Formats: sequence, structure tokens, C-alpha cells
Amino acid sequence: MVKHALSVTRQADFAAWYQDVIAEADLAEESGVRGCMVIKPWGYGIWERIQTIMDAGIKDMGVQNCYFPLFIPLSFFEKEADHVDGFAKEMAVVTHHRLIQDGKGKLIPDPEAKLEEPLIVRPTSETVIGAAMSRWVQSWRDLPLRVNQWANVVRWEMRTRMFLRTAEFLWQEGHSAHDSKEDAVAETMRALELYRAVAEEALALPVIAGEKPENERFPGAAATYSIEAMMQDGKALQAGTSHYLGTGFAEAANIRFQDKDGGHSLCHTVSWGFSTRTIGAVIMTHGDDDGLRCPPRIAPHQVVIVPMLRDNEEDQAILDYCASLQAELKALDAFREPLRVHLDAGANKAQTKRWGWVKKGAPIIVEIGPRDVASGNVAVIRRDRLYKDDGKLNSAFIPRGDFVAAAVATLGEIQDNLYAEAKERLHANIRRDVTDLAAHYAGDAKFVGWVEVQWSRPTGAVLDGIVEQLKALKLTMRNTPLDAAPADGACFFTGKPAVERVLIGRTY
Ligand code: AMP
Repeated sequence: MVKHALSVTRQADFAAWYQDVIAEADLAEESGVRGCMVIKPWGYGIWERIQTIMDAGIKDMGVQNCYFPLFIPLSFFEKEADHVDGFAKEMAVVTHHRLIQDGKGKLIPDPEAKLEEPLIVRPTSETVIGAAMSRWVQSWRDLPLRVNQWANVVRWEMRTRMFLRTAEFLWQEGHSAHDSKEDAVAETMRALELYRAVAEEALALPVIAGEKPENERFPGAAATYSIEAMMQDGKALQAGTSHYLGTGFAEAANIRFQDKDGGHSLCHTVSWGFSTRTIGAVIMTHGDDDGLRCPPRIAPHQVVIVPMLRDNEEDQAILDYCASLQAELKALDAFREPLRVHLDAGANKAQTKRWGWVKKGAPIIVEIGPRDVASGNVAVIRRDRLYKDDGKLNSAFIPRGDFVAAAVATLGEIQDNLYAEAKERLHANIRRDVTDLAAHYAGDAKFVGWVEVQWSRPTGAVLDGIVEQLKALKLTMRNTPLDAAPADGACFFTGKPAVERVLIGRTY
């Protein structure tokens, strides 16, 4: 029996395991403000990697970065009824701009300093960006108008969980205005494809891209598309969304353009968002009972060098050897960027350092002691293959030159392995032959995965009935996969001819 680094296994208690990984990998911690977390350097470093890769993709699409205010006048929300309906329950509102001391020395909002119009801490920026678009767009020549912002947003979520659902979260939000539905829908799909590519290629998260059923649309959207990832407990996580907003938001914000014939038309708008939630997806997809396994492309350090110091005169030679190895590795390019190498010269014992980096999920850990300096070897641990078949730690002695020569390829292999493992699990856990959802998801139904059924895409009361029926089983519809086989049977729910396939599962 292997004794693992974490105190709780995925199998025993997946939710507790998730919290344990976050604590032991030192990714984030509770802040004391409900639903708001402190993102620590290793967690923020992962976000920075995701940002860098996503930002390059955004710029590649031809979209430019901007910044809009954190505060949005309340009246902006009142203009779009569905949008305000959807977000009203979770808005933080600023009502005063000054505090005074009451008689007992307590700070209270100054009644004299009440804002004429309350300000909303942005939950999303369609309204404020829409107001700018209405100023910026005059003629068809100004279109398409495409911007992105990196920001924090606040949604007063009732049930929060670190990374997955927080009251304040970090994200990027892309927004665009177009002169036709076709152009807007094409942009919606481009953003979705960017999300799929970043999720699969950088985060090593296999995802299913598809359209959300009507009841799961973004408030005010005409169509919402998502990428859905499967966590190791079989639950779904919506990892990014792209919305075709129709002309509703343009009407509310008055985004009109003079077309080629001199007439005035409403723009079609689009928005898309990808958040720090995806770090939760990385943890729950790649983590194991020894902590996080960080895909090399988003690992803040791809190789960590741990010197085995003994507090004696040999230490300096070891440190020199480690520093020269670090320099040699730093000169390499991995995934078209300089390889990220950290030399952990801290005061902890080598054993403590080793397990610290295992828990953080550093892709490659290299340990170097006095004998290695003498023999020109390094001891290499790959985080994706931590144990040998016999349960012993899989630490391989390799000549230094061979290790350096193979380092970039090894990182690529680790990235591919994590992706392949997750992809196999995703596809093995989508069932297409289930006829009785209640039986399939009986009990607390852990590790069950998803079910794909054919359906007739009902709307209105029929859809509401299906949503209720699923809710009773703690199930939701995830999306209708874009690359699913065409429907060829009867609707699972209504018996009518099916028009497409829809994924059902438990979700975060
Ligand atoms: P939305 O604007 O609602 O489409 O959100 C865009 C993306 O942000 C979603 O697809 C989620 O992945 C993510 N997201 C939404 N709410 C939260 C939250 N409370 N905490 C973290 N991420 C979130």
C-alpha cells in the first residue's frame, strides 16, 4: 500500500480531497470575507499562465484589450429586463461615498453622502460596455467592434467553493458588436473554439463544446454555448461560455449603425467569459491522492531542482551544480517559451521540499546530492508517474546531459499524458444506452458520469417539466454537443422525433 501525501483520498471524500489539495498545494485560502478567496503565489502563477496563453489567443483573433469601470449605474441594468432578472439576486450595491462616526465612535455610512443613483459592483459588463459601444458605433464602417477586458467581477453567490464558485472572481470578458446575425454568431463560435483550444491544449482539459438548452442561457442571451469538462467524480463543470446576445442588449444600450443604404439598424452583440473557475477544473481533473498534477504549459515552474544539502562543506558544490543545471535548462524553450526552472535553495529539509513540490504538482522534480555531483547524474521524478508498479517512488538516476537533452520532450509527454488520461476518462463515462435516469443515478451516485440522450428540443412548459424532473434527481442538462451524431430516434422525454442529442449530468 502506497502511503499518499494527502490525508484524504479522492475515493473516500472527493469534496474534502479538493479542499485538501488547495491547502496542501498552497493555491489559495479563505479570506474571512464570505466567498472571497486569497489566491496565493502558486495559484496565481497558474492563473498568470492561463492569462498569458488566453491573451495571446484573444489577440490572435484580432480582439483588443480595454478596461471599463468596476461600478455600473443601477439604471444601466434596468434597461434589459431578462438580464436584470438574472443578476438582481446576486448584486453588490454601493449606496454611500463617505463614512462618519456615530455617537459611540462606530463608523456608519454618512446619510448626507448617499449616492443619488446606487452603483453596482459589476457582475459582468455587457451594460457598461454597451453604453460605450453606443458612443463608438455610428456607421457600418465601425463594425465589427471587438474588445476584451481582464477584470474581477462580483456575484453574490450563496453557495461558494474556492475557485469553482466565488463571490468575487477573476476572468476575461470579450464583447463585440456586429452588423449581422451571421457575423455575430461566427464570433460566438470563434470565442468558443478559442476556449476549447486553450482548455484542451494548455490546461489539458478535454471538453465538450455545445449549445446550452434554453433554460440554461445567460440572462438576456439569444443563445449560449459552453465548454463542459468532466471532473474525476463524474460531475460536470462549465468551463467557459460564449453568448450570442441577439439585438436585445443593443436595443437596451442603443447600439445602432447606419447601414450601407443609409438606414439605421440595431447591432447584434456577443459576449464570452472564462474565469478562475478553470483552476478548480485543473485540480479536479488532474489531481491525485498526492496533490495537484499541474499540466506543464500552465505550471509556474516546470522543473524544480531540489539540492540535498547536509549542512557541511559539500553544500556549496551541490548548489553550484544545481545553479549551472538551472542555467542550462533556462536556456531551453518549452512550448515556444523559455523553460521555467526553479532552484529550491530554501531552508527546509530536502524530503519536505520534495513532497511540497509533489503536492503542488511541479511536472518534473530533480534532486541532487553529493554523489550526483561526483557522478554527473541527476535523480528525476516525473509527477505524472510518481510511483513504480511496486508502489515505490519512481525516482530515476539519469546522466545530467541525457536529462537536459530530453527535458523539453519530457514536459511535452507529461502534458500529453495528462490530457490523454482525462480524455479517456471523459469518453468512458458518457453513456448512451441509459433508459432509466433514476436507476442510473441512484443513491448519492458518485463517479457516475454523464448520459447522452436524444431529444426534441422542447420549449416552454414542456421544457420546464423536464428541468423539474431532472432537478429531482439532482441532474441538469449540460449542452447539446456540436459534434454529436445526428439524431435518429425518439426524444428521451417526449417520445417525439428527436432533433439533436443532449448531455445530462450532475454539476458543480
Ligand atoms: P457568464 O458570464 O455567466 O457566462 O460566466 C462566464 C464564465 O465564468 C462561466 O462559464 C463560468 O465558467 C465562470 N463563472 C461564472 N460564475 C462564476 C463564479 N461565481 N465563480 C467563478 N467562475 C464563475
